[in-house]
Amino acid sequence: LVAEAGAFVSAPLHAPVAGRVAAIAPRPHPSGRLLPAIEIETDPLSAQRLPAGPPLDAAALDNESFVAELQSAGLVGMGGAGFPTHVKYRLPAGRRIERLLVNGCECEPFLTSDHRLMVERAGDVVRGAEIAAAQLGVAETVFGVELNKADAIAALERAIDGRAAMRVAPLAVKYPQGAEKMLIRAVYGVEVPSGKLPLDVGMLVNNVATMTAVADWFDRRWPLIERVVTVSGPGVRRPANLLVPVGTPVRAVLERCGGLTEDTREVVMGGPMMGTPLASLDVPVVKGTSGLLAFTADEARLPTEYACIKCGRCVEACPQFLNPSRLGRLSRAGRFEEMIGYHAMDCVECGSCSFACPSGIPIVQLIRVAKGALRERAAAGAAK
Ligand code: SF4
Ligand code: SF4
Repeated sequence: LVAEAGAFVSAPLHAPVAGRVAAIAPRPHPSGRLLPAIEIETDPLSAQRLPAGPPLDAAALDNESFVAELQSAGLVGMGGAGFPTHVKYRLPAGRRIERLLVNGCECEPFLTSDHRLMVERAGDVVRGAEIAAAQLGVAETVFGVELNKADAIAALERAIDGRAAMRVAPLAVKYPQGAEKMLIRAVYGVEVPSGKLPLDVGMLVNNVATMTAVADWFDRRWPLIERVVTVSGPGVRRPANLLVPVGTPVRAVLERCGGLTEDTREVVMGGPMMGTPLASLDVPVVKGTSGLLAFTADEARLPTEYACIKCGRCVEACPQFLNPSRLGRLSRAGRFEEMIGYHAMDCVECGSCSFACPSGIPIVQLIRVAKGALRERAAAGAAK
């Protein structure tokens, strides 16, 4: 353990390699900011693989102890959001989770890290879900996987191997579908009301990679120190899915894949629609890094922006039934508080509005800026 959680909504950090702490200092972060970081000088003789510890019987734990274990493992949502997993498992008094939904939808182009994980570690995906489901006492566990991942569906069905109240739900291939509320809608046809959580409809959603991390912690006592990362895009010489220690510099991961082509213009962390363009390659892979994509000038070129022509295409494209055009305008004017009334916080940042906009307006970026500012204001208000 190299950093303890500073609060309940926080996850500790475990050293992903053996070595020596060389510095604790501000370093570039994928968000573009300088953030405090622990720099570890790797012992060149260290083995990357941890010895497995004795399994911990999760079924013997009460909810409070189970939540504490998840936090100790440093688990966060590995689909990209990075929200500490244990927080979802602390149930308010009198509340129950009836259904556990395991998110195997990976709908952004290029990303295949979850797909490979479902094929190669289906047993651990199912085992992690089994541990979580038993703790929650759910009536059903469903793995939502798109139909274009037939091998993953088959691998999960084999791994389920007749376990009661567990099934794979093959889903239509469409974008976006990976956000929690959309997955619930796709599998059960249930709408999570605006401003509410899956818990409010008796459901909990976890990504497949998070489920393998649950199995790793309870069955082997391995904390979350590595993850599968898709390295792809036209600018990568040898695209691959790699198991990468958290904290590895992006530059080193790209070099492992043969480096970038000369015409690469942009490297994105995450998918092409929802990912974050990196200002520097000297940032670390973090727990939520599903992909590193490199684009050449052709794909990375920003469209010229024109005035809104009120065509309504962004409204039609929005899976959350928002008015992206209005939200973008309010954000540009700095009228962030007003955006709450237009359900800005329900935006899943899928980028469909920006993609559909013939005027090239960066709507999702504008909404993202506003949401970030609103969250910071809310956090500052809570800290007072
Ligand atoms: S990014 Fe745009 S399309 Fe996607 S949910 Fe947000 S407003 Fe709607
Ligand atoms: S798609 Fe673009 S041009 Fe059309 S209404 Fe939305 S913001 Fe305006």
